[in-house]
Amino acid sequence: MAGLPKYAFFEGKIVPFSEANVSIATHALHYGTGAFGGLRGYWNADKEELYIFRPIDHFTRLLGSSKMLRMNLTYTPAQLVDILTELLRTEDMRQDCYIRPLIYKSTPTIGVRLHDLEDQLAMFALPFGQYLEKEEGLHVTISSWRRIDDNAIPARGKITGAYINSALIVSDAKAAGFDDALVLNEDGHIAEAAAANFFIVRDGVAITPPITANILEGITRRTVIQLLREELNVQVVERNIDRTELYICDEAFSCGTGYQVAAVTRVDYRNIGNGVMGPLTSRLRDLYFDVVRGRKPRYASWLVPVHHPVQEPIH
Ligand code: PMP
Repeated sequence: MAGLPKYAFFEGKIVPFSEANVSIATHALHYGTGAFGGLRGYWNADKEELYIFRPIDHFTRLLGSSKMLRMNLTYTPAQLVDILTELLRTEDMRQDCYIRPLIYKSTPTIGVRLHDLEDQLAMFALPFGQYLEKEEGLHVTISSWRRIDDNAIPARGKITGAYINSALIVSDAKAAGFDDALVLNEDGHIAEAAAANFFIVRDGVAITPPITANILEGITRRTVIQLLREELNVQVVERNIDRTELYICDEAFSCGTGYQVAAVTRVDYRNIGNGVMGPLTSRLRDLYFDVVRGRKPRYASWLVPVHHPVQEPIH
């Protein structure tokens, strides 16, 4: 990590980052028994404010993922937001950043299981810019790996062990010279990108796989669906996407907290549309950046300000 955080939330309190360490016998390290999140904070220079994007939604998903792993932490999403804002203030974060919450089976022990183990919450944040080099035009391949199936490993949650799947997909794609890969589910339909959800545009309609297609239930996906409908008047259809639709669609993009809204302009050496970012993707991207940076009052409820918290009215 370039530039380590100064602090972390670890075992119930904020501590110097160098003190937030676990034993090599930690259960989650061996068996992938953790659930994590990935959030962004966006700095608005005019308002001198850091906005966390949709933290309640991210923490609700995190707690859902932890439930799938039989974890019993008693935090509410709102309490997790409080911990995060305190951490970011302690860190004095005044730039774009990435936030990583992690709930993990912390007992130092041997034995594959989910029950009779302690759980712990950890959180840290670090300065962060673009995750992808080429957000404006990705050349992707179709991975020879298949997306994890929900009957084997929970696909709709962010489970640490499941990310071996994404890691295989992304490293093989990069080794073959591509920027990223799309991955098919066991049905043979396009599920998503290595670590982002996926949309195509055909005849003015935006199409994305349904949440029952072994995709991660992305917060950005949900955001994009709403923005397309409410702000850009675009019809959005959630249905399976066939592989050959990529060859004839007009536009395609991947979206996620890390990827933001990234245009997919080539697939396996074939151009998507004209081989450059399409007009709808471009408008959506601009809109997305306005929303996350706090320039669209209509969506202010998605943002939690860190440094100048909104005061609750006194009754
Ligand atoms: N799919 C996968 C596999 C991911 O890792 C991510 C990133 N969290 C996404 C989709 C997008 O999810 P979100 O928009 O909530 O970041």
